[in-house]
Amino acid sequence: MGTYEDNYPNVALVGAGPGDVRLLTIAAVECLTSADVVIYDRLVDPSIISIVPEKAEKIYVGKKPSQPTMTQEQINSLLVEKASDGKFVVRLKGGDPFIFGRGGEEAQALKKAGLKFQIVPGITSAVGAADFAGISLTDRYKASSVTFITGHEDDEKTESSIDYEALARMETVVFYMSVGNLPLIAERLIQAGRAPNTPAAIVERATTPNQRTITSTLEKLPSQADSAGVTPPAIIIVGKVVELQSQLKWFEQLPLFGKKIVITRAEEQSFDLFSKLKKLGADVIKAPTISIELPDDTNPVDEAIFRLSEFDWLVFTSPNGADAFLYCLLKLGLDLRALGNLAIAAIGPATADALRNNLIEPDLVPEIFTTEALAKVLTANGPLDGQRFLLARADIATEDLANRLRDAGATVEDLTVYHTLRPDYFPHEAIKFLRESKADWITFTSSSTVDNFVTLTKDMQLDLSNTRFAAIGPVTADALRSFCMEPAAVAQEHTIDGLIEAILQAEE
Ligand code: SAH
Repeated sequence: MGTYEDNYPNVALVGAGPGDVRLLTIAAVECLTSADVVIYDRLVDPSIISIVPEKAEKIYVGKKPSQPTMTQEQINSLLVEKASDGKFVVRLKGGDPFIFGRGGEEAQALKKAGLKFQIVPGITSAVGAADFAGISLTDRYKASSVTFITGHEDDEKTESSIDYEALARMETVVFYMSVGNLPLIAERLIQAGRAPNTPAAIVERATTPNQRTITSTLEKLPSQADSAGVTPPAIIIVGKVVELQSQLKWFEQLPLFGKKIVITRAEEQSFDLFSKLKKLGADVIKAPTISIELPDDTNPVDEAIFRLSEFDWLVFTSPNGADAFLYCLLKLGLDLRALGNLAIAAIGPATADALRNNLIEPDLVPEIFTTEALAKVLTANGPLDGQRFLLARADIATEDLANRLRDAGATVEDLTVYHTLRPDYFPHEAIKFLRESKADWITFTSSSTVDNFVTLTKDMQLDLSNTRFAAIGPVTADALRSFCMEPAAVAQEHTIDGLIEAILQAEE
C-alpha cells in the first residue's frame, strides 16, 4: 500500500479559467500554492501565475515569438520528466483542461508512464464569456441545448470535419478558436440552413478588464468583428439566446470597467483596495511604494511587551501596527492574556478590524480617523493625569498624537513596532503601465506613498497628463499638491471605501 503520500497524485492538470484570477477554484489555488513546478501556456493570465510561490519552477510552454513552439509530444515528455522526480507538478491550462485543452492527451501520457494524476476543473471560456457578457447559454424559452465546437481545425485536414448541416439545426452554438475563420463559419452555417438573421455575438478577452462584446446577426457579425479589430482569444456565440444580452449585460457596465488604476500602498495592505476595485470592473495594477518590515532589533518591542502591566492604554494607529505588535507578542510565547486589563484604542475601522481578526475588541474607535480626533476622544473626559499610554506605531509616525496626550497630562511611550521602507523599484508590469502612460488613476493612501512614488519615478520621465490622482485624505492631497500633482479625487471619509467613493464621483 505504501504511505498516504505514495497514493497521492503528484501531477495535477489544473484549469485556470478564462482569465480573471478570482474565477480559480479553491482546488486550483491549493494546487498552485503548493506546486514545485508549474507548466503553463499562453492563455493563462499573468495574475494567476503571480500566486505561484516564488520558489516554484515556472515553465512556459506556449508560443514564443521567433522560437519554435513546443510540440505536444515535447510537452508530454516534459510533464513526465518533471513528475518522475517526485515533485508536485501542476500543468496549468486556460479554461478547463478537458475542453479543447489537450488535457486528455497529457493524462494519457502520464498514465502510460505509470504516474498518478488528478484533474482540477476550470471554468471553460465559453461559460466565462457567456456569463460575463450576459448571455444565458440555455434559456427555458429560447434554447434547451448548447453545443461547444472548435472552429480551428487540424491544419493537416483538407476537408472540414465540422458537420455544418447538423450544426445549423442546433440551438445555441459556441465556437472556440474561431476569430480567423469567422467569415467562413458564418457562410457555411447560412448555406447549411441557419437563418442569416440569427442573433450572434463575439466576446473578446472575456472576464478581463479588456473584455469587448459585439452583438449582431450571423450574417453581419464577421464584418463587424473585423472592423472593430477583434483578435483572439474570443468566443463566438450563435443562437436566439443572444437576444437577451442587452438586458443581461452587467460586467462591461460596471462603473470602473476597464479603468486602469494603480495602487501605491504596501503590498501587504493592498488586498482590500485591490479586490474592491476589481469588483467594480477596474484593471488594477500594484506598484507598491512602501514595504513593511519588523524592526531589525525587536528588543525594545519585546521589552515593552514584558512591561505591559505598567500601562493603562495601548493605542494602535494602523492595521500594520496591530499585526506587528501581536506577532511580537506571540513570538515571545505569550498570548492575548498578556493584554490583561489594558484599554485598547484603534484609530479607525481598518485598525479595529485588524484587532478583531486577532480576537480583540477595541475599547475606543473615534468617529473621525485622524490622530487629532483620536487625541480629542481620549481627552474628552478631562485631563489624563498620570495615565500611561503605549503607542504601537510605525517608525514614520508623527509626534502629534504623543504630544497631544502628553499635553493632557499623560505619560506616553512611543514604540516603533514596524518600519516602512521604500522599495528600490516597481514590479515590471507597473513600470510598463506607467511608461506607456496607460494609467487612468493612481491612488495614494498616505503622504509617504506620494513621496516615495515621486522618488521612484524621478528618472522615468513619465507622461502623466492623462492620469488622475486620488488621495485618501487632506494630508495626502497636500503632499500631492506639493509636487504639483493636483488630486482629482480626495476621500471625504479617510478610508479605502471613501477613496473608492471619491473616484466613482469623479468618474460620473
Ligand atoms: N481549455 C480552454 C480552451 C482552449 S482553446 C477552455 O476551456 O476555455 C483556446 C480558445 O479558448 C481561444 O481560441 C478562445 O476561443 C477561447 N478563450 C480562451 N480564453 C478566452 C477568453 N478570455 N475570452 C474569450 N475566449 C477565450
